[in-house]
Amino acid sequence: MALLEVADLSVAIPTADGLVRAVDNVSFSVAAGEMFGIVGESGSGKSVGMSTLVGLMPGVRTSGHAHFEGRDLLAMDAEQLRKLRGRHIGMIFQDPLSSLHPHFTIGWQIAEMVRAHEDVGRKEAKARAVSMLGRVGVPEPARRADDYPHQFSGGMRQRAMIAMALTLNPELIIADEPTTALDTTVQAQILELFGSIREEFGTAVIMITHDLEVLADVADRVMVMYAGRRMEIGTREDVLDRPRHPYTRGLLDSSPARNPSATRLRPIAGRPPSLIAPPDGCVFHPRCPVAIDSCHTSPPPTHGAGDEHAWTCRLDEETPVPQAPDPTPAPTPRAVPQPATAPDPRPVLIRADDVVKTFGGSRRIGRQRDKAALRALDGVSLELRQGETFGLVGESGCGKSTLARCLAGLHPMTSGRLEINGTDVSTSDRRAWQSVRSDVQMVFQDPYGSLNPRRRVGSIIAEPFRIHGRASGDGLRRSVQDLMEVVGLNPEHYNRFPAEFSGGQRQRIG
Ligand code: SF4
Repeated sequence: MALLEVADLSVAIPTADGLVRAVDNVSFSVAAGEMFGIVGESGSGKSVGMSTLVGLMPGVRTSGHAHFEGRDLLAMDAEQLRKLRGRHIGMIFQDPLSSLHPHFTIGWQIAEMVRAHEDVGRKEAKARAVSMLGRVGVPEPARRADDYPHQFSGGMRQRAMIAMALTLNPELIIADEPTTALDTTVQAQILELFGSIREEFGTAVIMITHDLEVLADVADRVMVMYAGRRMEIGTREDVLDRPRHPYTRGLLDSSPARNPSATRLRPIAGRPPSLIAPPDGCVFHPRCPVAIDSCHTSPPPTHGAGDEHAWTCRLDEETPVPQAPDPTPAPTPRAVPQPATAPDPRPVLIRADDVVKTFGGSRRIGRQRDKAALRALDGVSLELRQGETFGLVGESGCGKSTLARCLAGLHPMTSGRLEINGTDVSTSDRRAWQSVRSDVQMVFQDPYGSLNPRRRVGSIIAEPFRIHGRASGDGLRRSVQDLMEVVGLNPEHYNRFPAEFSGGQRQRIG
């Protein structure tokens, strides 16, 4: 018997605009100790489906069957599901900072998790927390258990979340984009950790991701989702090396890691459809490069049975899945290199000289006093010209976000000089910043933390238009909906709240 058996699962979310069919007739199973990957674009239903199974989507309408160790998940009440979470099914989310309480130490939070499910004393629970932190690779676990979440780096926080999920030795861990917010080097370490967890604890893992490459080395089997439907399922080799569905083919063709010699990537044209009124026929037909007339009207058949290699498309195993034609024009010949001394004619937009930023010195952090000032930026200089894309790369804690915040006026500099569009803003003078505020905007890593959960998305996007007097009345709504279209959001979703969007869609809102 499979550990988790899901058959014909459908999840619909009532919204002001209508019923969103977030998951539509999805079936799969996960065996004990298996690493099962679920991949798809933002809004494909992968997170909604899993969150619904463990009771984290109150108010949704469900149908179908979902059994965990033979127990019917969809028939359980909130208290039964609460007991199941943690004890039998552990959860790990993309952003550990918002999953950890900022006022309690890491060790205390893990120990409380143990005490919430088991009748053990504080001392024993703390000892188990320290032991588990050590097993997931947190150095000096006894000392670091007394640190607060903000004192851990992004990678260490994710290790702490994994320790918390493992402490009660669950049979299954659901990891929702666990490496998306991490640097590449830390991402590789966390994926390796998931591999060793399976070996050491025999825990099954459902890894939800938008990135096929995350699954390339670790998954046993993979399910591809699009617009709430299952497009393809099979072993990692079936799906990644012998894809049968044009959407899977499109995901692989658009991956830089799979096309290292390509000068241009082949993105999947268009954007996912509305889930309130999805297209007739095959839901992928508006974006499919090999759609024919019948794809617009008739639902496609499913080839393969059960959890074997199966896909839902008119193309059968005899028909090769063609690669999408390159939609971009042929690259223009490379420009003749200019002599090193030729001046760039574009005007300088940002000029930063010798920027220094220090934090702390005598602040209290929880019960501890942070005495030493942290020198986050130490004499950084750069120039950014109009229309230029400037890459800032470095590991966690190297100061790249601090520099970006200084350039956007969100952190006052400790010393140095900063000029934006010819205006000197080194002194953090409010009036000087006001005149250049609309010239520098930021998109943050954590889109959910940057959006007011009580305001509708249309109103959030309209805010800068209003503040800077760029549009009003009917024109304002039109401008907002045009912008939504430009970033790949459905303008129909103007009246939705941030919680009704997936993580990737929230980033587009930001
Ligand atoms: S059924 Fe038609 S539109 Fe859908 S994926 Fe297959 S070929 Fe493309």
